[in-house]
Amino acid sequence: MSRVVLEGVTKRFGDEVAVDRLSLEIEDGDFFSLLGPSGCGKTTTMRLIAGLERPDEGRIWIGDQIVCDADDGTFVPAPNRKLGMVFQNYALWPHMTVEDNIRFGLQVRRIPEAEQRTRLADVIEQLQIDGLEKRYPNELSGGQQQRIALARELVTHASVLMMDEPLSNLDAKLRIDMRLELKRLHADTGRTVIYVTHDQLEALTLSRRMAVMSKGLVQQVGSPDDVFMRPANMFVASFMGQSTINTFTATLTAGEVRGDGFTMPVTRATGDDATLDIVVAARPEELVLHRTARPGALHCAVISELPMGYTSLVQVRPLDASEERFVTLEHPRTDALFDPGTEVWIGLEAAKVHVFDAATSERVALSGTA
Ligand code: ATP
Repeated sequence: MSRVVLEGVTKRFGDEVAVDRLSLEIEDGDFFSLLGPSGCGKTTTMRLIAGLERPDEGRIWIGDQIVCDADDGTFVPAPNRKLGMVFQNYALWPHMTVEDNIRFGLQVRRIPEAEQRTRLADVIEQLQIDGLEKRYPNELSGGQQQRIALARELVTHASVLMMDEPLSNLDAKLRIDMRLELKRLHADTGRTVIYVTHDQLEALTLSRRMAVMSKGLVQQVGSPDDVFMRPANMFVASFMGQSTINTFTATLTAGEVRGDGFTMPVTRATGDDATLDIVVAARPEELVLHRTARPGALHCAVISELPMGYTSLVQVRPLDASEERFVTLEHPRTDALFDPGTEVWIGLEAAKVHVFDAATSERVALSGTA
């Protein structure tokens, strides 16, 4: 069993709370990502699980064993937690060949020679690194070095593999190739993977489940679809997405959202009909551009269009709104670009946009929406 559970874990550095009452359940065989902006506490969480930091409060289990409990002082040191770790800087031994680097961990663990050879052959095949065995790290590309770092951990058969930004030193194309490879490796080996990244696309493409963190606090835990399509609060909605999210202040009644220059029919999931101040958030790809007037749609003029291949980012300015502002949306490309000043109508649809309580920033559930 290689389930990892954190219960009420807090870690402070002086006055700074790096990780704040964190509770997580990472299932056996999961690919679980910790995602968030720089300084949100991802690496500290990883180091707490690995046994490289001691928590000030809380408990951590790996499998059925409590590996640390701040209350009674239980603390299993890092080497005894039997975790594999892959970091951004590969930390290969420069004076050792690829083969010796990979076998090092097996020698330390006194694995018999015959078993070492079998495992080495397996991992070389798995990671497609045959032919590199006698080279030294400085004779390898960045991508090859990262593969060796991965091989070195896989070969130990650690049931939990922890990776901290393992792809961030690679160029963009190699990063995409390695993502595919990590996904295949996870499917082939069934290991539990805990993955730290600040790159939302990496988390969305690789994870089975993920936690979005901000300022030491978990904002949402769920599948990539949960987090992207049903963000729990304003922070998650604005963090997840390729471009800046559009926000509109509005009021919600039982049957309608009414904002500055637009309306949108809705039904509240709770059946509550009290008027609520809300923020409607919509990523550029969640808004719909109409060339003719539509009931409730925001009447706008095109400011500019940025062609991006098959789609364009279109910047528009609402004409009837009380405050000057801009809205950005993604629209399928047509042959002719919009002339600046063209009148368009921007539709907000309850099934696509996100509604948050203006006071708490928490998601407001609408029925019929995802
Ligand atoms: P990044 O993506 O930049 O690596 P992160 O999300 O991994 O960031 P952490 O490295 O966990 O964030 O840091 C969380 C907070 O704790 C930060 O404010 C950081 O400055 C602080 N911190 C981390 N390690 C230490 C330390 N050893 N001493 C003091 N403060 C620390």
